[in-house]
Amino acid sequence: MTEVGDRIRCPKCGRESRIVWVSQDAKLAGLKCAGYHSQISPPPTKFSKNIQTKTKKGMVFLIEVGKE
Ligand SMILES: [Zn+2]
Repeated sequence: MTEVGDRIRCPKCGRESRIVWVSQDAKLAGLKCAGYHSQISPPPTKFSKNIQTKTKKGMVFLIEVGKE
């Protein structure tokens, strides 16, 4: 059973992360990762100066839980 406050490994980067939210049917959980993640990865071009890469620390992901 996944509960808020549980520590699990981030599925994206493997760092330790924490459950901050669990859905009522316990099938989805919000996972707050301690690492940095970029939401978009635009191709590197010299025309992309005005595109902001959103690299954030402490992003929250939704993951599926409760199926083993
Ligand atoms: Zn992560």
